[in-house]
Amino acid sequence: MIKHIVKDTFILQRLSSVATENDSDIVKDLIDTLEANKEICAGMAANMIGINKRIIAFQDNGKITVMLNPEIIRMSDAYKTKEGCLSLEGQRETTRYRSIKVKYQDTNMKVKIKTYKDFTAQVIQHEIDHCNGILI
Ligand SMILES: [Zn+2]
Repeated sequence: MIKHIVKDTFILQRLSSVATENDSDIVKDLIDTLEANKEICAGMAANMIGINKRIIAFQDNGKITVMLNPEIIRMSDAYKTKEGCLSLEGQRETTRYRSIKVKYQDTNMKVKIKTYKDFTAQVIQHEIDHCNGILI
């Protein structure tokens, strides 16, 4: 189901809790909502659709990847950039890393570790920040 995008920064600044195998409906809603906004939005965290769970979805080479409980375990090559957010107005300056190694669970709760670079890495960093209640 396509959900309404939360823009209340008080709600968005809450820490999200651990996602479990019972959260498959949330995963589906997150994919549907990202799909509906894909022209203007590269990634989305569950708290942006009102669910405080550590789940993110993002576009990666034309397909949507979902991560449960994502965690950056290594990062390198910091740079300053400007980015926007579907939940916020305008663009803001932030520091990101060109290369990140992410540990996460897939939708079958299988633990995976993968390295991402450049724009996809930037999107993942932005969405993991959402899980931690951090806004750009
Ligand atoms: Zn955002």
